[in-house]
Amino acid sequence: MSEKKIIVSKASPRKQETMPVLALRGLVLFPHMVLHFDVGRAKSVLALNEAMSNERKIFLVAQRDIRDDDPTGEQLYRVGVVGEIRQILRTQGDNLRVVVDGRYRGRLLNIDENGPFFSGVVEEYPVRERITNKALCDALVRTVKDLFEEYCYLTPKMPKDIVNGILASEDPFYVAEFIAGNIQLRYEDKQAVLEESSVIKRLELIAKLLENENEILSLEQDIHEKVKEQIDKNQREFYLREQMKAISSELGEGEELFEELDRYREQIRKLSLPQESEEKLLKEVDRMEKMPPNSNEASVIRGYLDTVLELPWNVHTKDKIDIEKARRLLDSEHYGLKKVKERILETLAVRKLSPEIKGQIICLVGPPGVGKTSIARSIAETMGRKYVRLSLGGVRDESDIRGHRKTYIGSMPGRIITALKQAGSANPLMLLDEIDKLGNDFRGDPSSALLEVLDSEQNNAFRDHFIEIPFDLSQVFFIATANDRSTIPAPLLDRMEIIELSSYTREEKFQIARRHLVAKQLKRHGIAAKQLSIADSALYEMIDYYTREAGVRNLERLIASVCRKAAVTIVSKEDTKRLSVTAKNLSTYLGPRKFRDDELTRKDEIGVANGLAWTSVGGEMLQVECAVMEGSGKDQFTGSLGDVMKESVSAAITYIRSVAGQYGISKTFYKDKDLHIHFPEGAVPKDGPSAGITTCTALVSALSGIPIRHDVAMTGEITLRGRVLPIGGLREKTMAAYKYGMKTVIIPAANVPDLEEVEDVVKEHIKFVPAERMETVLETALVRIPRPVIEPPAPAMVPVGERGEDTSIRQ
Ligand code: ADP
Repeated sequence: MSEKKIIVSKASPRKQETMPVLALRGLVLFPHMVLHFDVGRAKSVLALNEAMSNERKIFLVAQRDIRDDDPTGEQLYRVGVVGEIRQILRTQGDNLRVVVDGRYRGRLLNIDENGPFFSGVVEEYPVRERITNKALCDALVRTVKDLFEEYCYLTPKMPKDIVNGILASEDPFYVAEFIAGNIQLRYEDKQAVLEESSVIKRLELIAKLLENENEILSLEQDIHEKVKEQIDKNQREFYLREQMKAISSELGEGEELFEELDRYREQIRKLSLPQESEEKLLKEVDRMEKMPPNSNEASVIRGYLDTVLELPWNVHTKDKIDIEKARRLLDSEHYGLKKVKERILETLAVRKLSPEIKGQIICLVGPPGVGKTSIARSIAETMGRKYVRLSLGGVRDESDIRGHRKTYIGSMPGRIITALKQAGSANPLMLLDEIDKLGNDFRGDPSSALLEVLDSEQNNAFRDHFIEIPFDLSQVFFIATANDRSTIPAPLLDRMEIIELSSYTREEKFQIARRHLVAKQLKRHGIAAKQLSIADSALYEMIDYYTREAGVRNLERLIASVCRKAAVTIVSKEDTKRLSVTAKNLSTYLGPRKFRDDELTRKDEIGVANGLAWTSVGGEMLQVECAVMEGSGKDQFTGSLGDVMKESVSAAITYIRSVAGQYGISKTFYKDKDLHIHFPEGAVPKDGPSAGITTCTALVSALSGIPIRHDVAMTGEITLRGRVLPIGGLREKTMAAYKYGMKTVIIPAANVPDLEEVEDVVKEHIKFVPAERMETVLETALVRIPRPVIEPPAPAMVPVGERGEDTSIRQ
């Protein structure tokens, strides 16, 4: 760079003077600047004294090594500044505080070290020069000013007047020297600036130093800010916590809260849960610590922890399976139910032999009141397990099973977890009541959640949405109950072993009442056996005329209400010795009979057939009525019939049309007669094909005018060709027939093997007629066989489309 060329002014010879020399330690003075410093070294004090007596001039020059206490002349830099002492103050001891004005730059030509202080010949060493490249110089000045501005920004302590003075100046010499003199630099760097005689180089040097300095400062500031931030955060938290503690203790809560938290932590550790679960719970306690104790969030966590801690995490009862004892207990608590008891004992025996085999889940299926719940309770008792019942009727939502997340207000665990809490052990016998009534709609499928509960592969880590941590359900003994096997969701049915309980006969009901229900209700009402006797006749009366059910639930209720009424009498009339309830006085306890026998016809009638139906409350006998009127071939079916039932009626009509002649029925009946078929108890919806043969029989009777035997009942599906197809629920249906005193029951031939299930008393009293075809049914049910209509031979040639079934009648 050509502009680097420095032309030192040589116009006048340089001034040379002898004067005292003072070594500066770690300081560099610049011309036109004022320096304050303390002086303690004897040599320096003497030099100052000398200067004071001689025009106050002194040469101030830095020593090379600041650690040197007594440097030789060699150890001083050559270039320094001639200064004029402005002031000397005496401070502590011999120390002096000196204020010196920098005058001009000087160079030490030689130094005399022999005297009591240094003195030397100093030559003026000016920097003033001509600036050949003004643009470069201006650019440099600007750069240096920018950098200096940045420097000032990073060190806000810089006095304003210095800053403004430097920024306002355009003089490159002044700018360079003033900046060097006023910023924090190592003394070596300051010395380097002082020694540099080229103004351009000086500016470049300053720029470099400033740049370097700025970088260090901004790094320093970053570090400082980070540290401050951290400290601020910690301090803030600390401060807030302290404040919270103070407020809590002011409110008298603090101690309690900390005690509560510690209690939770201890309880959690005591549960000895898997590590992950324990950590999760402890984290909740930590979260609670950070919340105001009465806030909503804190009470949600408190509720959560309380619920979780109340669960029987590692509480197990010991199984005691003794088959003989179990048999005795089941027998003593339940009358009959032989097959059921056997199946249950078998299951228990298997459990005893290999407790690890989880096996199938038992599902007790049967109408209400036949003892499903109470058998399950007895099983729990014989096994020595806790018993808990969980009703699934109407459960439509998955969260009923699994619970709601605890973030919802008022959320709770699902029914499974609630039941476990209630049981108080992790291996209770859990009765899943009415599993066939499980709903399934848009709110989610509860049966799939239940499937997970019952699946032995998955249920060792059942997750409730509320509890969040897994609970082991694999030790729970599940028993389900259902009224109707066909409505149990198929995947659940797959996993279960069905044990059927059927309706009770009149005799069974009577025995159950006499042996169990009466004693149970007397005890419950605090009545001694000698105070109240319920005669057998009264029990039969209740069974026959006050209840119509498959089980004994209503019967038990009736006995209870007899007991209640009796209790009132016993309490109010103290002289009452013994009350006795018989068939005769039962109505004073229970009011008039609810059902009457004579609802059903007791004589042979035309168009009335006894059908047998099956409902979830057991078998029923229904009389199908059929009326034929002159008309125009309109059919009317009444009695709340479902589609399948209507179709089966239509099938019967079609069949009759095809065989009309054979039974002496007018072949045009479907055109000129109106038919009305009615199923009684019109308000009760009915469906199913099993009334097919009954309807057909009633129709044939009505159309042919031949009465139907009143003591014959029947059940069976009919096809268009008159075949009789099998039906279900034979046991219940035949029991109903027996109850109504039927002598003969017509059943589909294919149902004959099912007769094995039919109660012995029923078989003793009823003659079963298996029917393969409708002809058998009619032969058995009608009082006499209708005579066929003798049909004349058909005309030899009948044009297509003109031949009708009614030709024979018309002639
Ligand atoms: P389910 O659960 O089938 O609806 P429950 O178990 O509730 O029926 O039975 C109703 C009442 O009848 C209970 O008090 C029960 O003890 C009693 N019970 C039912 N069957 C018998 C039986 N075979 N022996 C003794 N009591 C019975």
